[in-house]
Amino acid sequence: MKTQELDLFPIDNQEEKEAKATTNFDHIFDRLSQSKFRSSFYLNSKDKEYIEKRNWETIRKSTAEIISKRLAPANIPNDGRQTPMRHGIFPPFIAQHATACCCRGCFEKWHNIPKGRQLSKDEQQYAVDIIMEWLKRHV
Ligand SMILES: [Zn+2]
Repeated sequence: MKTQELDLFPIDNQEEKEAKATTNFDHIFDRLSQSKFRSSFYLNSKDKEYIEKRNWETIRKSTAEIISKRLAPANIPNDGRQTPMRHGIFPPFIAQHATACCCRGCFEKWHNIPKGRQLSKDEQQYAVDIIMEWLKRHV
């Protein structure tokens, strides 16, 4: 009935905070955009559908879980091969490749966070934030 209702909400602090956080990623996104490989990743219609059916908070939680299990451990036997590249499974996987958060080798090379040790909570948070930001920019 009142389809315009949402437009009436004022911008709250959360949005301002997110806007600030966004600018902090501009440098890394700029570097990634200069890589032919990293910038070749995109979301297809299946990925976008997956995102549309969920909310960002749910996707963030699943992403945090993936990062803690597949990127955070000190030793990952299949490092470099743990993140699928196929579309339509889980869009954050695609974002992991696009943002070089796909494996500890890439994470070290692009984000200067050494492999061979457990990632701290902050470092995991950092990876999740970049992934989420990439998804929001590419949906
Ligand atoms: Zn990698």
